[in-house]
Amino acid sequence: MTKAHMKAVVVREFGPPSVLKVEDVPDPVAQNGQIVVALHATGVNPVETYQRSGSQGYDRPRPFTPGADGAGVIESIGRFDAPGPVSRSGVRLAVGQRVYVSGSVTGTYAEKCVCTRDQVHPLSDSLSFEQGACLWINYGTAYRALFQRGGAIAGEWVLIHGATGGVGVAAIQWAKLRGLRVIGSYGTPRGRELLESLGVDHAIAHGDDGHLDSVDAATAGHGIDVVVEMLANVNLEADLNVLARGGRVVVVGSRGSIEVTPRRLMAREADVRGVMLYGASDTELTEIHAAIAAAADAGAIEPVIQESLPLARAADAHEIVMNSPSHGKIVLTP
Ligand code: NAP
Repeated sequence: MTKAHMKAVVVREFGPPSVLKVEDVPDPVAQNGQIVVALHATGVNPVETYQRSGSQGYDRPRPFTPGADGAGVIESIGRFDAPGPVSRSGVRLAVGQRVYVSGSVTGTYAEKCVCTRDQVHPLSDSLSFEQGACLWINYGTAYRALFQRGGAIAGEWVLIHGATGGVGVAAIQWAKLRGLRVIGSYGTPRGRELLESLGVDHAIAHGDDGHLDSVDAATAGHGIDVVVEMLANVNLEADLNVLARGGRVVVVGSRGSIEVTPRRLMAREADVRGVMLYGASDTELTEIHAAIAAAADAGAIEPVIQESLPLARAADAHEIVMNSPSHGKIVLTP
């Protein structure tokens, strides 16, 4: 009998986007304690470009299939003790069920992926598969940045510095859901329109010199309680100057180094905190997925798709995610 095959993107050597090649690989089989998900959509994130090029400290053994985000339908379930697999949120997982994944054993730039039970979560009926493929890294990171690391509480001012991309849009939606007042930054007029449509209180252009000058007036002199920073190597020093007393900068993204003036922190008794989604504890992960499920079911989070491309165009997706202005999230459809 010939073995069934599926399409998957395989990286055999580090390099430019062109090293992302679609190959025929054996159909995955669920071993004990594993679940196979037939993917209808895959989320594309900057981290996969670092993994593909072996940059920013990433050095994955090759060959590998990239990708941690995806959504689809459970195709098969390996052996589990009775009563069978149950998700983190306590929902029985069954063949045919709509799900999103939070990482996988085999990589999500593929038609199917193998997951552990903890990586498979029911997908709310209110979201499409493409939207489901945006949940884990974007909504997980934004939640962790704002609440688990940033300690944001209702009524505080948050600056989402880089609000038009995947994590930024998620952060706006979480912040509004939890009663925060939101300033978002954008790079293009289209990005500004997106932020206005999402209901930010104030929008600023991060490409303009002095773009933080209006923060004082916008917050009536209070300053920013939490900065969610997507490009710390460019903005960290300026962020420190707009913090309220006791303010926190949570560093989500950085692609280099920067010199800062510690006195700016002292004057405000402020903090700079790092964020790493994969640093979340088991308890924190359960909290993140429960929050996503509740908010999605309530229609309070709604990922914005910038562009949807076929799996074979993964290389174009990597070009876009790194080099084009953002107005939402890039997804692949296997
Ligand atoms: P993305 O969708 O590519 O969005 C990038 C964002 O950065 C866009 O909003 C872009 O705005 C903005 N940006 C560009 N220049 C900027 C500047 N000078 N100042 C502020 N923002 C600027 O990426 P993403 O998925 O949202 O991820 C954002 C960053 O977080 C990436 O560096 C990613 O690697 C990192 N990340 C970290 C974690 C973690 O666990 N720590 C998890 C997920 C992502 P315009 O395009 O409108 O200019």
